[in-house]
Amino acid sequence: MEILIENILIYSLAALLCLTVVFIYLRKKSRESKIVDAKIRKAKEEGLHEPISLHPVVDVNSCIQTGACISACPEHDILGIRNGKATIINASQCIGHGACFHACPTGAISLRIGTETRGVDLPHVNQNFETNVPGIFIAGELGGMGLIKNAVTQGKQATENILKTIKKNHKAKYDLIIIGAGPAGISASLTAKKHGLNSLLLEQDTLGGTVFTFPRKKIIMTSPMDLPLYGKIKLYETTKSELLDLWQTVLQKNSIVVQENSKVDSIVYEDEIFKLSAACVLLAIGRRGSPRKLNIPGEMKEKVAYRLLEPEIISGKEIIVVGGGDSAIESALLLTDQNHVIISYRNEVFNRIKPLNKIALDKAVTEGKIKVLLSSNVLSIEDDHIIISVGKEGEKVSIKNDLVYIFAGGELPTQFLEKTGIRIEKKFGETVMKH
Ligand SMILES: Cc1cc2nc3c(=O)[nH]c(=O)nc-3n(C[C@H](O)[C@H](O)[C@H](O)COP(=O)(O)OP(=O)(O)OC[C@H]3O[C@@H](n4cnc5c(N)ncnc54)[C@H](O)[C@@H]3O)c2cc1C
Repeated sequence: MEILIENILIYSLAALLCLTVVFIYLRKKSRESKIVDAKIRKAKEEGLHEPISLHPVVDVNSCIQTGACISACPEHDILGIRNGKATIINASQCIGHGACFHACPTGAISLRIGTETRGVDLPHVNQNFETNVPGIFIAGELGGMGLIKNAVTQGKQATENILKTIKKNHKAKYDLIIIGAGPAGISASLTAKKHGLNSLLLEQDTLGGTVFTFPRKKIIMTSPMDLPLYGKIKLYETTKSELLDLWQTVLQKNSIVVQENSKVDSIVYEDEIFKLSAACVLLAIGRRGSPRKLNIPGEMKEKVAYRLLEPEIISGKEIIVVGGGDSAIESALLLTDQNHVIISYRNEVFNRIKPLNKIALDKAVTEGKIKVLLSSNVLSIEDDHIIISVGKEGEKVSIKNDLVYIFAGGELPTQFLEKTGIRIEKKFGETVMKH
């Protein structure tokens, strides 16, 4: 009898222990799921939940909740675990590393471009990277495949194909004009040099492409790649300055000059050559587009910028931020604590900003941290001041000024392609990587 009671006691204790472990485990999971739910809600509010381009899709039937995809992703909160399955949180922030795809032990992740409801416009290119317009080629992210390594590889491959097609006796000044000095354009111009092509590299902004716009402290994840006229770059994690220095050095060593601040507006074909005087054109313009300019006197001055790169090092300045969209408001808010900031917007109200930005802006205005000039237009930019027309009457006012940030929208790369006659296809959730 005593043994029986002892056994019942032991079994009950073991069962209780098991139940406690299961309870703690389930409570932990439920807490984690709630955190992921909250992140998804926030991502939806901020418009970051819906994928823009390449993104992972999880097959919930194959997912066994190892969390390997989450640990492998170098970006944060693209994926999370909810109710025992991997799920998308901030899909629009996916860079396309594909690390989640490779890490998943059950092959539950595929990479797709666009969704059923939100298509992604991609130019049509053949296997030689040539578009439907003969002589115009595309390399890098513009073609749909992101990442620095892919851009470098495609810049090289596209130029090698151009080499095969170029007519020997063409009448143009250049064999090849490369538009865009990001990783694809840099690699293309090095390849052109290697094969003796006479090429010109045009860049609307500064050498480096999207990489130039990264925050200084961002860790860049990449994998070893072959850079023409340099050799293997054996990097896995690097910094913006290390990569930019490397590109700059290789280009200089090979006497390649990037023609910066040279935006190409359109491409015209005449008398069997492109009007810029090139036999072929390689578009390596990425997917960020071109900022719209105000076309006012003084806009070329150094104190004018179309993006905010390092707000933390700007202080004690008189700043005007031009624009009424989210980029303008977010940039202005980042600058308020250490500077005197004015937002100039040509409309009467901010009617196209995210609710959270509206709340933050109203708060900053109430606290006197930002001044807003609605119905205003900057007329000219001088060294130490700007002239601006304010209100319906258009009263001209001079305002002391050190820096001007312009966020007036821009031209999408697809608009540029359409103007050039390049055929565009919409991709609605097409799978690009599948086990
Ligand atoms: C926030 C963020 C983080 C990222 N992190 C990583 C990472 O860690 N690792 C990684 O591998 N990739 C990363 N990427 C992706 C990577 O930056 C891009 O895939 C890569 O830069 C694409 O190279 P590209 O040469 O095709 O285009 P881009 O780098 O975009 O360069 C295009 C260039 O063309 C110029 N241009 C555009 N239009 C014109 C015109 N009309 N006339 C003249 N010039 C023009 C632009 O100014 C730009 O300099 C990240 C991207 C972002 C946005």
